[in-house]
Amino acid sequence: MPTYVIAEKCDGCKGQDKTACMYICPNDLMVLDKERMKAYNRNPWYCWECLCCGKICPQQAIELRGYADFVPLGASCTPLRGSEDIMWTIKFRDGEIKRFKFPIRTTPEGSAQPDGGYGVGADDINSLNLFTEPASLGTEVPSIKK
Ligand code: SF4
Ligand code: SF4
Repeated sequence: MPTYVIAEKCDGCKGQDKTACMYICPNDLMVLDKERMKAYNRNPWYCWECLCCGKICPQQAIELRGYADFVPLGASCTPLRGSEDIMWTIKFRDGEIKRFKFPIRTTPEGSAQPDGGYGVGADDINSLNLFTEPASLGTEVPSIKK
């Protein structure tokens, strides 16, 4: 089920040009009603439920219905993302609330190397090797003599 904005909680990201949910949505679905300063999903039909908007919203104003393998049918989920972990608040149909906290990273923030330290260059796009090969194979690749 698509995400939806709880209008009472949304502050329109305090009137910035682009709200957090607009910035993150890969399908360009979130828009801001500038008169009311409330965001909304303009076409829930096209929402592919990636949940990015819910995770980035600083006001916890976006509610999600989780998949059945994640929470029981009908439960709602609200994420609260920190720099080290994410907390999911699950509200079950009978009103019971449970919270689950998970770490979201294994390296200190800002320390990740996009190329994994392998020093990939622009010419690698033309190579037949896979990314990081041959270094990551831990062995020498034999060459064929012509
Ligand atoms: S990110 Fe949250 S607070 Fe900001 S506009 Fe979207 S729903 Fe509202
Ligand atoms: S769940 Fe993903 S696709 Fe759907 S509105 Fe949010 S960011 Fe966009």
